[in-house]
Amino acid sequence: MSDGDKEGTIDPTTIGERDAPPIDEKPYKVIFEANKCIGAGKCAQVADNWDLNLETGIARPKQYFIDEDERAQNVRAAEVCPAKKDRGVIHVIDRRTGEEIAPDPHGDGTVSVEW
Ligand code: SF4
Repeated sequence: MSDGDKEGTIDPTTIGERDAPPIDEKPYKVIFEANKCIGAGKCAQVADNWDLNLETGIARPKQYFIDEDERAQNVRAAEVCPAKKDRGVIHVIDRRTGEEIAPDPHGDGTVSVEW
């Protein structure tokens, strides 16, 4: 097997966990498929955690790890994102279970990140 063959096998739920805050404090995390963001800006309209970077034309989360109080706005951002034919490129993951709580297009908590 040559170098680089493992690229597509990253488990998205492990991203960022090395320097992450404790799960008790921030039970949720955001995974953002920035390369598939179409810059529609809907996320920034519904969630303080999201900004549209005018230089890049791509959204940006202020925080990747979020607590219970911040959950609802990020779930909303995930649900309104129209990218990837409405499946969305913002994912909210429950770090305790590894399940996707939004947008959860499969309805079963399967992480729908497509790198
Ligand atoms: S709603 Fe989705 S596509 Fe639009 S700016 Fe936010 S992340 Fe990008």
